[in-house]
Amino acid sequence: MTAPHPIQYVKGVGPRLAGKLASRGIRTAQDALYFFPKGYEDRRRVVPIRELSAGMTVPVQGKILSVQGAGRGFRGPRVLEVVIADGTGRIVAKWFRFHPSLLERFRVGETVTVCGAVRLFRFMPEMHHPEILSAEESSDPVHYGRVVPVYPEVEGVPPRILRKIQWEVVQRHASQEVECFPSGILARVGIPPLQESLASIHFPRDDADAERFREFSSPQQRRLIFGELFALQWALALRRAGTEREEAIPLPWDREIVDEIKRRLPFDLTGAQRRVVNEILKDLGKPHPMHRLLQGDVGSGKTIVAWIAAMVAWRHGVQAAVMAPTEILAEQHYRRFLEQSAGLPVRVTLLSAALPPKEREAVRRRIRDGEADIVVGTHALIQESVAFRNLALGVIDEQHRFGVLQRASLCRKGRISLHLLVMTATPIPRTLAITLYGDLDVSVIDEMPRGRIPVRTKVVTEDDRRKVFEEIRKEIARGGRAYVVLPLVEESEKIALRDATRTAERLREAFPGVGVGLLHGRMKATEKEETMGRFKNGDLQLLVSTTVVEVGVDVPEATVMVVEHAERFGLSQLHQLRGRVGRGTRPSTCFLMTGGEQGEEAAARLSVMERTADGFRIAEEDLRIRGPGDFAGVRQSGIPDLVFADLVRDASILHQAKEIAAELQREDPSLSAPDHAGIRRFLAMRDTAGGGESPAPSSRD
Ligand code: ADP
Ligand code: MG
Repeated sequence: MTAPHPIQYVKGVGPRLAGKLASRGIRTAQDALYFFPKGYEDRRRVVPIRELSAGMTVPVQGKILSVQGAGRGFRGPRVLEVVIADGTGRIVAKWFRFHPSLLERFRVGETVTVCGAVRLFRFMPEMHHPEILSAEESSDPVHYGRVVPVYPEVEGVPPRILRKIQWEVVQRHASQEVECFPSGILARVGIPPLQESLASIHFPRDDADAERFREFSSPQQRRLIFGELFALQWALALRRAGTEREEAIPLPWDREIVDEIKRRLPFDLTGAQRRVVNEILKDLGKPHPMHRLLQGDVGSGKTIVAWIAAMVAWRHGVQAAVMAPTEILAEQHYRRFLEQSAGLPVRVTLLSAALPPKEREAVRRRIRDGEADIVVGTHALIQESVAFRNLALGVIDEQHRFGVLQRASLCRKGRISLHLLVMTATPIPRTLAITLYGDLDVSVIDEMPRGRIPVRTKVVTEDDRRKVFEEIRKEIARGGRAYVVLPLVEESEKIALRDATRTAERLREAFPGVGVGLLHGRMKATEKEETMGRFKNGDLQLLVSTTVVEVGVDVPEATVMVVEHAERFGLSQLHQLRGRVGRGTRPSTCFLMTGGEQGEEAAARLSVMERTADGFRIAEEDLRIRGPGDFAGVRQSGIPDLVFADLVRDASILHQAKEIAAELQREDPSLSAPDHAGIRRFLAMRDTAGGGESPAPSSRD
């Protein structure tokens, strides 16, 4: 790597543009080199107008037949329309806002080349605001006669100028980059060296397959993707190797405790539950910490698995901690654990933020003195003031609600390494799980308890509200209960709160005689608990709630759910919400209410929910539509944002990277072989977030 070259000194930049580029994170020529195109246009061939179809973005060339829109007063139409004909057809180029000087570029009878996205208007092709390619440029290698890059917008830098800057950068600096992977690895993955890759990604060669560049599947793009995924897999392999060396208290099961647990099961375990219990018990018996992720769709029955693990810990006289993301959920687990352990000398304890200070202190004391065996709680568990006597097992429910740091804080509560079971109902697609939880072993409950009736889901609009309310009325009359869920707009919790309060009032009017409750994030824990309790016991039959009911809440009598503004939710989140109904033996319905302008598009997206109840399929769909960044937990997972790589699109490279990282870690963990010096340098550079293949400027917008 050479010394950084300030962007200001790149030909054509200067102080003003340098400032604009800097605000996008581009400060050096090297930053610019890693600021990649978001798309490509194939401008190698002028396309006859007759061959145009909507959606193409290509150059066309022809004679100017007319120029209209010029000179009309400022009340007249401000649209500039230039009609161009090439002997095969006509096309209209339109500008809706334009500088008067633009007019001077068009003279009737002259030849012009324009390039833009083709649309059809009354069967006539048009282009809006196309790029004008002047005659001199037909030999210009930057904008014309090639596959040209289209960069993400940089405010204050016109696209053509940006393209020219990038051209200069690539000409001078691409070849100075140093490849870090040995040629053997490049050959194995089928990718060219870094220098060539960088040059081609910006300005594909003449023989390039434009389509593959557009799909980010060209070998040159794969080279950069590979680098990023390799670094990720290397870091994960390291973490994993670390836990294998640590020690933990072995907690082997024995006949007696297993029989005791079996006698107490309120139902037969499903095959999947039995399988994951076996996996967990096997881990617990080892003198190394268990690090296991338990994935199971909403309602698949993860809680009982956690209870079994906690019972095994109790048998060994050590403490277990179960951490849940909300008070409601902690309280629910606590009650279930109490019931299932009734009659045994197991001291199940709830550490609730809702307790008065004095009692809370008493609970803390019991935890410290080892008078509490199984401790259930929220984040309160990982507070400074909480110390355990001999914590040996940690369970984190709804893992995606916690960050890695919180996971680590719980682990620190043990004297030596904890056995850790993290549970999640967010069905994380396999590819994403590998990266997010690459340091965890994964168990999956892929089977629902018998007798569950799938929830009928319907995407509805405001026009259907009468029918929806009718359904609610019927279910409540029958002894059922209903949820009405409102989105929480994070920017303005106040507005959300006002909406929730208003909705509750409106529903009280619409359903006279029905107990309507309100649940939102601003309420005190005690208030929430009380409301939830009244809903559970039937005192309230209709619960208006923000998304606090999303996780884990279990009220089997609830058979109807209405999600307001369903279009504002991610599909996976809707799936979680929907899991609050359909928990009993009666058929349930979930109405996804959509409204507003984007109605149709939203309905199309949401219709997936009508077609499938498979959380994994829904999650894949979500990942495809919204990308991994929006996935619960990804942002805070401690894993750097991926800039080039896309976990769905690049799954095959991800696996190659994993394989190669694992091999290297076995054969040369310190990367001290001369052949691996480059990789060592590359990884070190990424760690310090220096230049090079680090995701400095984001080229995704
Ligand atoms: P989740 O995986 O979403 O946390 P829970 O553990 O809350 O699911 O279980 C959902 C419901 O299913 C609970 O009412 C629980 O008692 C019940 N349940 C769990 N496992 C079984 C089973 N094997 N057979 C019948 N019901 C079960
Ligand atoms: Mg749960």
